[in-house]
This record gives sequence, C-alpha cells and structure tokens, in this order.
Amino acid sequence: MSQTDPVMDSGPEVQTTGELGADALYQKCMLLARNMWWSWHYEVINLFRDLDPIRWRQLDHNPIALLHEFTPERLASRAAEMVLYSRINYAVRRLKEYMTTQTSFGVTHASILGAKPVAYFSAEFGLHESLPIYSGGLGVLSGDHIKSASGLGVPLVAVGLFYSQGYFRQHLDNNGWQKEEYQDTRVENTPLEPARTRDGKPLTIRIDTRDGKLFAKVWLVQVGRVPLYLLDSNVDGNRPEDRELTNRLYGGNERTRIRQELVLGVGGVRALRELGVDPGVYHLNEGHSAFVPLEVVRERMQDDGLAFDDALREVAHRTVFTTHTPVPAGHDRFSGGLVEEHLGPLRDQLGISYDQLMGLGRVEPQNQQETFCMTVVALKLSRRANAVSALHGQVTRRMWAHLWPWRVEEEIPIGHITNGVHVPTWLAWQMQQLYDRHFPPNWMQRMGEPDVWQNIYSVDPGELWETHNALKNLMLTFVRRRVSRQSRRRGESEDIVEAGRNILDPNALTIGFGRRFATYKRASMLLRDEERLLAMLNNKERPVQIIFAGKAHPADDPGKQLIQRIANTRRDPRFHNRIVFVEDYDVNVCRHLIQGVDVWLNNPRRPLEASGTSGQKTVLNGGLNLSILDGWWAEAYDGTNGFAIGRGTTHVSQEVTDQRDAESLYNVLEEEIVPMFYDRDVDGLPRRWIHRMMNSIATLGWRFSAHRMVTDYTRHCYVPAAGGVSCEMHLH
Ligand SMILES: *Cc1c(COP(=O)(O)O)cnc(C)c1O
Repeated sequence: MSQTDPVMDSGPEVQTTGELGADALYQKCMLLARNMWWSWHYEVINLFRDLDPIRWRQLDHNPIALLHEFTPERLASRAAEMVLYSRINYAVRRLKEYMTTQTSFGVTHASILGAKPVAYFSAEFGLHESLPIYSGGLGVLSGDHIKSASGLGVPLVAVGLFYSQGYFRQHLDNNGWQKEEYQDTRVENTPLEPARTRDGKPLTIRIDTRDGKLFAKVWLVQVGRVPLYLLDSNVDGNRPEDRELTNRLYGGNERTRIRQELVLGVGGVRALRELGVDPGVYHLNEGHSAFVPLEVVRERMQDDGLAFDDALREVAHRTVFTTHTPVPAGHDRFSGGLVEEHLGPLRDQLGISYDQLMGLGRVEPQNQQETFCMTVVALKLSRRANAVSALHGQVTRRMWAHLWPWRVEEEIPIGHITNGVHVPTWLAWQMQQLYDRHFPPNWMQRMGEPDVWQNIYSVDPGELWETHNALKNLMLTFVRRRVSRQSRRRGESEDIVEAGRNILDPNALTIGFGRRFATYKRASMLLRDEERLLAMLNNKERPVQIIFAGKAHPADDPGKQLIQRIANTRRDPRFHNRIVFVEDYDVNVCRHLIQGVDVWLNNPRRPLEASGTSGQKTVLNGGLNLSILDGWWAEAYDGTNGFAIGRGTTHVSQEVTDQRDAESLYNVLEEEIVPMFYDRDVDGLPRRWIHRMMNSIATLGWRFSAHRMVTDYTRHCYVPAAGGVSCEMHLH
C-alpha cells in the first residue's frame, strides 16, 4: 500500500527517564491513539485513562480529544507523575510488533488473498463510541469483523461512509418521549486522515449522474492492520444539499438513500482503484453496497474489453454477499426514476438497456410493477450469499425462493455463517484476567478451540462469582451516574438527582435489555401483565430489577411509545424504581450492561431476529441469556447454558404468539431463574447458577466469536471466491 507507515515512522524510542523528549512522548501517545488497535487493548486504554480519568469519561473515551487538551510538557509531567513512560514505550512496541507480525492464520490459510485483499463494504462501522459512524448491530458487527480480520491477519480493506453527525444522541423529555440531537463530529478529534493516492495527493472521487456530478473525498482510519476508507460528500464542487448527503445515517428520503449508496458502492470501488488497491474478493455486508459489483463489471469491461455477460460472471464469482434481516423494511427498494437518474451514466458504459438494469433488481425481470431491490441485485451479482444464523438461513431461503423457481427450498443457494463478536472488545478486563489465570497462555490466539474454554470448569466458583459481582457493581455505578445525570438534564429537583445516585440494589437479580426499539423486538413484553411483574420486582426476599436501554428510529413513533411506557414506570410508585431506562444506548452503554448483568433478555417475535450479537457479548462475561429461540440462540441453547422463552414455535396469529411468549417468559422467570439465582449454599454462593455460567462460557465462548466467524468467511467464501480451493459453505 502506498500509505506511509505511521508505526514505522514513529521516530526514536522515548527516554525512560528525564524530561527529554516531551515532544517525542506526545507523538508516541498520538501514534497509539491514531490506530483503533488501542481500543481493544486494556494496557493502552488504561494508559489513556490514567492521564485524566474524569476527562477521559467526559470525552467519550476519545484519546485524541484528550491528548489535544495536553501540551507536550504537561503530558510529560503527568506521565512522570503516573510512571507511564515504560507503559507507553511498551504499548508502542506491542503495536509495532502487531503491525509487522508475519505469522498468522491469514498467512497460512489465506495467502491467495495476499496481493489481492478482500474489499469489505458496509454502510456502518461500530468500532468505538468515540467514532460515531454506526447506528446499531449491523455497524458493530462490521467493526468486530474487521478487528478480527486484523487479528487473524486476513488481508482485508474496508470501505464505508463518514457520517459527520453519526446517528443521533438520544434524550428523553419530561414525558419520557425520545428527542434526537445531532452533533457534529470534529474530524481533528478522530483518527481520520485524508487517504492519499500513490503520488501522495488527497483523493476525491467523482460520480456522474443524469442530474450532475457528485464528489466525495476519502478518509483513512487504521483499524489494527486493516485500513478503513470512509467516503465523505462534504467537499467543494458539490451542491449544498450534496455536501450534507453523508451527514447522517439512515436520514433523509429515498433519494438520499440511493445517493449515499451510490457513493458507498460506486464511489468506494473507484476510491480503491485510485488508491492502488486491487481486491481479489468483494464482500457486500448487507444490500446497501450492492452497486459495487456493477462498478467492478464496468472496470473489467473497460480494462480487458470483456463483454458484459462475461464480466458479470467473473465478478459474481468474486463477490460475497451477507444479508442481515428478514424484516421487509430492511431491504432497500428504489423506483425506476431514481435508478435511472443515478445509474444511467454507468448503464451507458455497461452497454445495457434500462430494462436490463431494472431486471437485475427484480425477482421477475420483466415485471414493470416491481421496484429495484438492492438485496435482489446483491443476490444476483454474487456467487456466494449467506444469512447470519442457521434459522435465518432457512427463513432467507424461503424469502427469496422465487428467485430460483426451479429449485426446491433446500437447494436455494444461500447458506449461513452465524455472527460472532470480537472477544477483546467485549470481554471485561477483570474477566480477561480471570481467563488469563486459568486458560492456556496463548488462549486469545486459540479462542476458536472448544478445549480452551473447558478450562472455565477449573475456576473456583467463588472466584467466578466474585468477579461477576465486581463487574455488576461497576455496571451499577455507571447506571446510577447516568440516571442522575439524566435527571439533572431534565431540570429535576436535587432530591431526584440524588436519588438516582443510589438507585438499584446490588444484591437483586438484575436483568438487562438493550437493543433497538423496533416493535418486533417487543421491548415491553415484560410489562404485559403488570401485576405478575410487580410481584417479582417487589418480592422482599427475592427482588428483581431491570435495566432498559435503546433507541427508536426517529420516524418510529410506535417504538418511541414503547420507550415512553418503560421510562415512565419511574413515576409510578408501584414500581419502586426497580425499572430504569438508560438513555443514549451506544457501544459504551452496551459494553457496561453486557459486562455486569445477571441475565440478558431478548424477546423478539420469532423469526425476525436474524442473529443478534449482544447476548454473545454477555456470555463472555458470565451473564446468562434469557431469550426466544430465535437468531443465534436457536442454535446456541442446549438446555444447560442459559434459558429459553417458548419452544421455538410461532403461532399464525401474532396476538396469540405474543401472549404465549409472554406467558412463557413469566413462567421461566418465576419457576427457574429467580429460584435458581437465590438458591445459596452455606457460603452464600448460588452453586447451580454459577454452574450454568460455566456451561454458558464453555459451550458458547468459542462458537460465537468473530474469530470463528471470520475464519468461516475466509475458508468458505473468501478463499474460494479468490479462486483457491476450499470447502464450500454448508447450505443448512
Ligand atoms: C452489540 C450491539 C448491538 C447488537 O445487539 P443485538 O443483539 O443485535 O440487539 C446493537 N447496538 C450496540 C451499540 C451494540 O454494541
């Protein structure tokens, strides 16, 4: 790659003593802060925090913003005071080693990708709270994917959009109604730098539409070994409305949407070409980037004079597509007018007619009534397509069966690779230390092996329980701080603000629920039978408390009503503040919740949860899942490693399904969960509960890591798509 290597150009080693080298020290810290690698290494996170713990928190754990508040001299004196010099040097050395290491899974299993990496396209990347260019699960999954690709040494470059205002910050007003606030991200406080072409120039790409030109500049953020390129339409030469095109995730109307996707797909491919990246494989993470193969086909026709059909076949062979939701609204559809306006010039170069182009986005190419669906384009232009859990695979094959009318359902060519999470990102420091003590020395490198996780059974139950409770207390401290801050913000009395600081009981069974407030996720299911719920919450010997968090889409009033209903329980004396709502769910809130809850609740309407990943994060930290048998849980639950709601069936009537699921939820809580949690031995330990925690970690930790996920993608998709020999993906 043509980029100068920031790690290798880092200058001389910082002196370990003396005042010499304040500037060099500052540069070293900046160097650490400018590669997102820091965000999954506790020794570096703790280093930044130790510089100024209060500002660290106030600045959303943003090391660059923090460093900007220091002069080199003040940093040096703070480093001396806190004895940080050797830790800084050590961290820089580790980063250098990481960036240059030659032995990895990628080298031995994906050498075919060496010169021709995978280009991974996604509309959002959730890497860390300090870089808000994601809205939820899809983004966090993309972030975890590229972090794991970096760790495994799988050659991969990533492409996305830079949203200068991100999604939105959520606050509730005095009535519990969600308010959205958009904040500009200051680029100088992010690790973004202009991506440069081989001759060192900052890059701007151009896309022609029927209605004029569209420009985008390209940023680079280094995520370990993976470069992430982010396109940004806020450039001179664009019309004012186009300068704002990439401001927000999922904002605006259909036209905004297709223009964003044009920048991502067509713009992204052009950017890679200008940067001298020659991908061997294209991975479309969700249909948003389905324009990618069309632009690659154009390149192939232009470069090698291939005919359209030949180019298409070749490009499809190299394209991998992952679909992420069975919910119809999750599949972009565009009218013929919008498609022609934005893809017309590209279509001219492809030498295909309007009807041919539209046909690529239709199940029935000739059906003039059908709109242009990005998922259909992606399915037609990729040889390998997959869903994100086994159950989602079945649902997806049924959903798109009419694309292959001559095939039986089992032979629809859509497989599945179940999602997983990036363990170093989601594993609490205290748990990591516990694993370090009891797992084999290099367990992080071997985390895909079941045997490694069997070692959890050799941990003393008391030690595991204490670690969990330490994490639970940290989580409660976080929640209390947030709840009192929320009250202050709403201008409530000092008494209420103070009460927030003492809310919740560290000894009570604590259930967490954090996710998007889409109605199919049924956030308020626990409130369906208030009397039954209140009896559990207010039980004197065996109390239960619940922490909710999550955003509703700005246009989703029913979602906002669910939030309101839950948030307003705090005004209802019967609830005794046993239900709290934490505002502004993001990676930070999620991390705190999943690391500290006893039980993580998920009760979507089956089978609409394609996978879900937050419950996988809980597993790593010793929390137990209580979930509908949907998404990943349908294949994860074995009767001993968590709890199931329902039996994995769906009634034809939605109302009946909801009623039955709620009934089952109450039953499991009353008959299994609460008794098991409060069943203590003479030492005060809930033995059966702790054993279940161990079962959860042992059976699920290795299976639902992003390490395993990226390994699967590499073996079953990337290597074969690049032309190497490997096994094909299991269809089901
Ligand atoms: C992990 C995560 C998600 C995904 O969780 P689901 O289980 O799919 O609901 C969503 N948002 C954030 C901020 C996350 O960290």
